[in-house]
Amino acid sequence: MQHFQHYIGGRFANGAAQFPSTDPATGEIWAMMPEAREADVNAAVDAAHSAFVSPEWADMTATGRGKLLQRLADLVAENAPKLAQLETRDTGKIIRETSAQIAYVADYYRYYAGLADKIEGAHLPIDKPDMEVWLRREPVGVVAAVVPWNSQLFLSAVKIGPALAAGCCVVLKVSEQAPAPMLEFARIFDQAGFPPGVLNIITGFGPTCGSVLTSHPKVDHVAFTGGPETARHIVRNSAENLASTSLELGGKSPFIVFEDADIESAVNAQVSGIFAASGQSCVAGSRLIISNKIKDAFLTRLKEKAEAVIIGDPNDMATEIGPLCTQAQIQTATDIIAASENAGASVITGGRPVAIRGNYFPPTIIDCSDTPDAPCLTQEFFGPVLSVVGFDTEADALRIANDTAYGLASGVFTRDLTRAHRMIRKIRAGIVWINTYRAVSPIAPFGGHGLSGHGREGGIQAALDYTKVKTVWLRT
Ligand code: NAD
Repeated sequence: MQHFQHYIGGRFANGAAQFPSTDPATGEIWAMMPEAREADVNAAVDAAHSAFVSPEWADMTATGRGKLLQRLADLVAENAPKLAQLETRDTGKIIRETSAQIAYVADYYRYYAGLADKIEGAHLPIDKPDMEVWLRREPVGVVAAVVPWNSQLFLSAVKIGPALAAGCCVVLKVSEQAPAPMLEFARIFDQAGFPPGVLNIITGFGPTCGSVLTSHPKVDHVAFTGGPETARHIVRNSAENLASTSLELGGKSPFIVFEDADIESAVNAQVSGIFAASGQSCVAGSRLIISNKIKDAFLTRLKEKAEAVIIGDPNDMATEIGPLCTQAQIQTATDIIAASENAGASVITGGRPVAIRGNYFPPTIIDCSDTPDAPCLTQEFFGPVLSVVGFDTEADALRIANDTAYGLASGVFTRDLTRAHRMIRKIRAGIVWINTYRAVSPIAPFGGHGLSGHGREGGIQAALDYTKVKTVWLRT
């Protein structure tokens, strides 16, 4: 049995209590996790606050911060296999995906290492000959970062990287569902040479840990990734101190295929767009909006591919679908599909849990063309479930795509470039992928509108969001 610890003020510490973590592939308890409660949270915030005002960090040059982040990126790359294995063990995400993702997690740290000394202020050409006026960009302060269990190494990197590049200090709260990868990351971070308290990593439950952290008066900014319901709690928590927030929430992303699309490429993109990470991804292309002219042929090909997907041990490189992270998700997916069938939707493949040990659910395709209110089409949930709607005209496709309160990602498959441009202009989403899906880069901002949240991660903007502007007037 492995035991993990918190990382507070540069030291490893047990929490107020401990709780077990279950291996989603076997259902067995494999590790004990520390549980942070109020005193642990306060210690972590105090450590971040002390580090923020300490000369060691506050007076470090931006280039110095960049060098430390570069060292961190190297350490992440060196420790990639271990981090990938732990993520697979604790979350059930297949090793093929965790190994691929950790490589670009290192790239994100590298990108923000390079950006640290390129966060510039500005000189303002004020209409007064005896006055010099300029803007300084200063770190926003202590950041509370709260992340879910899925893709946690990545979702943490897109907060820690820009926040430290900007000169902030961070308390990161990892999800209680599967905290092992980020608690192990703390051991790697510790070797990079940052002053103690610059980053603190804790885990615990929403009401007793997350809530205490996000309502803490010494927190200046809350960066959250998770569900909209939790986001509402967090915004209410942070409102007391008027802390700023950035929210990366869920999605119900449209994947639109026109009749002139490259069908094989669209089918492949749809398979990975929804079934990668067993559908446990905020950008999952969970609504296939397909031209009625090719619907039958497309679904036949898609069904063949979905049924050929290899389901099994997440530690096996050949596996394409692993278990869902928690048993509760199996129940949610089963209930939503049953309710959708009752409403008149028809399951094309999958739809029932796989009868093997562990939290397995098969790739599922469900036709909702005649049931626009079917819960599987309207509700966001984590699972390999694709809901399908046919359309006749471009206007219909757009209307169906935008018929959601979410607005995170979208995909459009067409060979008609002018049509692609019309769709780009009209789709309500933070990301539009044309003839591709799920592409990411540290350089490209990532985030949504509406129920999918606000603020952007990735790119230069993310680092600027961790700064505040100071206007300086100097009489000469
Ligand atoms: P969740 O909202 O239940 O939990 C996320 C985090 O919030 C966890 O660490 C949890 O402990 C914490 N939390 C819970 N209650 C809290 C409270 N009252 N105060 C403070 N913190 C609290 O989300 P989840 O089920 O773990 O993750 C799935 C959700 O995350 C989905 O909706 C998914 O789409 C979304 N997500 C979004 C992105 C993105 O980048 N947009 C990426 C991944 C996941």
